[in-house]
Amino acid sequence: MVVMKFGGSSVEGSEGIRRVGSIISRNLEQQPLVVLSAMGDTTDFLLKAGEEALEGRVNIEALEKTHRDAMAALGLDSLPQVDSLFSELTGLLTGVSMIKELSARSRDLLVSFGERLSVRIVAAWLQKTGVPARPVDAWDGGFLSNSQFTQAELLEDVWLTIPAAFGDYISGRDKAVPIVTGFIAMDKRGNITTLGRGGSDLTATMLGAALRVREVQTWKDVDGILTADPRVVPGARTVAEVTYDEASELAFFGSQVLHPRSMQPCRKTGTVVRVKNSYNPDGAGSIILPEHTGNPGPVRAITAVKNITLIDIISSHMLGASGFLAHIFNQFLKWNISIDVIATSEVSVSLTVNTGPDLTGLIADIGRAADVRCHAGKAIITLICDVTRSSSILASAFSALSGAGINVQMISQGASKVNISLLCEDREADSVVRILHAAFFG
Ligand code: ASP
Ligand code: MG
Repeated sequence: MVVMKFGGSSVEGSEGIRRVGSIISRNLEQQPLVVLSAMGDTTDFLLKAGEEALEGRVNIEALEKTHRDAMAALGLDSLPQVDSLFSELTGLLTGVSMIKELSARSRDLLVSFGERLSVRIVAAWLQKTGVPARPVDAWDGGFLSNSQFTQAELLEDVWLTIPAAFGDYISGRDKAVPIVTGFIAMDKRGNITTLGRGGSDLTATMLGAALRVREVQTWKDVDGILTADPRVVPGARTVAEVTYDEASELAFFGSQVLHPRSMQPCRKTGTVVRVKNSYNPDGAGSIILPEHTGNPGPVRAITAVKNITLIDIISSHMLGASGFLAHIFNQFLKWNISIDVIATSEVSVSLTVNTGPDLTGLIADIGRAADVRCHAGKAIITLICDVTRSSSILASAFSALSGAGINVQMISQGASKVNISLLCEDREADSVVRILHAAFFG
């Protein structure tokens, strides 16, 4: 068995659906289970439609048109299940527009329509082309979560409820390929939840791990995991293999490869994940596995996260006193601001946060015990690499950067031993990535 997950850009329009359909039908002997995202940017559209409904406007014409155009081009003129989803969606938005209230719970219900539509349309297309298939809403596939709407966590129960839900397909009694909604789940009270943006990856890895499949494939529109963002580095190459740890750091540090939490289930079972390109189905893509098999080079990939604020906290009273960092971290906890990269010295600590959340309260609180300075307009460049070779990696990185006159402002080596992060000016980020890419990948 394999799990094949297709993201929103893969199932966009009739062309995308045909491409996905042919990849599935050519791999039936592998007993696939399919996980889909909502078509194209449907999720963003639904979130926007919710905001508009709050202002009294209900309009899903454009969304309905993109779905119906794709269906018409596929010769799927009328699908009663799709009609009823559209009328339910209109009803929901009308309700929102009347009560002028949209809770996190209703927002999850609202965005769930995207995935519920895509699985029905793709399953109908497969059936039309002679492939037995059936749409499965996550809750009918055993996906139970807690009630943390918009960021729900799957319950431990899913290790049992998922295999139970697919028992007939696993045993071969049921031949219809399950086409499962990514991203959504249900809490024990029967409310629809979502697993966070990009959560279909987690659906796929959880499904694959719970069913102990041979491999989870996530199909993208690029050749697997690349050494850098190809828009910044046109010569970026496919990375043959990365470990779960490296993949998790990649996800955290801005690469769009996989949802950050998606490595967790496969880590437990050792299930491998392959990132493949739906435009190049025969390419090997990249494989994510527990440990490296060969002897990979020192650096796997280089990523950049822009729009970062650096916070320098300096306090000489704290010299030698215990509890300085605890005090600082507690203020971040209180204001619910998440820290990405940290470097410390005896009297100071520098940390980075995303630019965006209001920092005024946090800074006032920390400012009572220390001197605080904020600098916006920074970027974090991360080398996903073998940190046991950090001296030589840093030597190459610094010689390349100093040759180009770029000053690194902070450096941090991750505890997971797979990343080194450097802070630079936002406007220099692209050239830093290009310089480092040239230094490590030639
Ligand atoms: N459709 C959801 C999103 O756009 C989930 C996903 O694509 O994985 O975030
Ligand atoms: Mg999406």
